[in-house]
Amino acid sequence: MQLILKGGRLIDPAGKRDEEIDLHVVDGRIEKLGKGLTANAAQVIDLKGKVVAPGFIDMHVHLRDPGFEHKETIESGVAAAAAGGFTAVCCMPNTNPAIDDASVIRYIEAKAKVAMQGLVDVYPVAAVSQGRKGEHLSPLAELAAAGAVAFSDDGDPVHNAEIMRRALEYSSMFKRPVIQHAQDPSMTRDGVMNEGLTATRLGLPGWPSVAEEIMIARDIHLTQFTGGRYHVAHMSTAGSVELVRQAKKQGIAVTSEVTPHHFTLTDEAVRTYDTNTKMNPPLRTQDDIEAIKIGLRDGTIDVIATDHAPHSFDEKEVEYIAAPFGVVGLETAIGLALSELFQKNILSLYQLVEKFSFNPRRILGLPVIKVTEGETANLTIFDPAASWVVDPMSFKSLSKNTPFGGRRLTGRPIGVLNNGRAYWC
Ligand SMILES: [Zn+2]
Repeated sequence: MQLILKGGRLIDPAGKRDEEIDLHVVDGRIEKLGKGLTANAAQVIDLKGKVVAPGFIDMHVHLRDPGFEHKETIESGVAAAAAGGFTAVCCMPNTNPAIDDASVIRYIEAKAKVAMQGLVDVYPVAAVSQGRKGEHLSPLAELAAAGAVAFSDDGDPVHNAEIMRRALEYSSMFKRPVIQHAQDPSMTRDGVMNEGLTATRLGLPGWPSVAEEIMIARDIHLTQFTGGRYHVAHMSTAGSVELVRQAKKQGIAVTSEVTPHHFTLTDEAVRTYDTNTKMNPPLRTQDDIEAIKIGLRDGTIDVIATDHAPHSFDEKEVEYIAAPFGVVGLETAIGLALSELFQKNILSLYQLVEKFSFNPRRILGLPVIKVTEGETANLTIFDPAASWVVDPMSFKSLSKNTPFGGRRLTGRPIGVLNNGRAYWC
């Protein structure tokens, strides 16, 4: 396989590069970088106006496999990731069995290796507690040795402070972060949407923003106390952004992520009673979105991750209160980020690449992708200007539960290269 990626704009935060340049790729390796490259045997791909970036990673994905293969499998999840412009994903441990045993990690890695011939790297996030029950720590050392890149009970919070303390202590010995799904369960028992005027009007039980914030506040104290590393998943409120901002100012090892749906939609979207507007944490208010955008811009929020949470059509086709939480995200993330953040002058393309590629890899301690001669071509290529309409039926994901069906977006992925494979979206 020989390719010349011609005339694209290479944005590479690790190499501090932002320039139009050609890449000659031979058998999955970057042979040469330069202007006006030619090679007789190579297929030339014109990338004028397109961006070439180090491969994007979605550090928050539910692949549902093992245990819930009617929602997603490792094969379909990997296909959705490639179609969405990602060369890597982290898969969350709320499978059945949970990822609390090295054998589950080996199962995932074996399946990921053959899915699309290993195009997408799959990095398991192991459970903090056995069975994610919050009672006893998982064997963290064994899980780290088996390949877990982080620890989380995602799907649920680590609500027990002592468990969180020990998780932060032990995980820091293996240089892995603890990823918290921040939710105080005592305040969200019946909640299905953001607590506020809209919930009152709709007659739906509310879920207050403070339920997220008090958990983050506690965890920041524990992180400072233990010297551990803490990452806030899918941050949704203005108060959470401010807590992380202040913690970072104090030099505490806290990082954070936000999902595309939380910077795009407010709780007003629930007015339709479309169960694809039901997610955990819930959609918040315009004030929260404004705070999240400022947090993205000033670096308080390090990462954009999707919380890709597939559910089958039948599971979501019930009344709002009974529906499961979660939406798919892999195949709309780049389009939403370009539409809502780049087109609206919140983030530059360089900053977007940092939040989709450089920062999550740094947080997870993964090797930095080098876009230089002699290195493996691990690339995401996207068009920041292409206009398109989201069609859930065309998703590679087994599940179609998105609130963005029919929405026009500006910007989309073009293709990915990784591990000697290329895929054109
Ligand atoms: Zn979560």
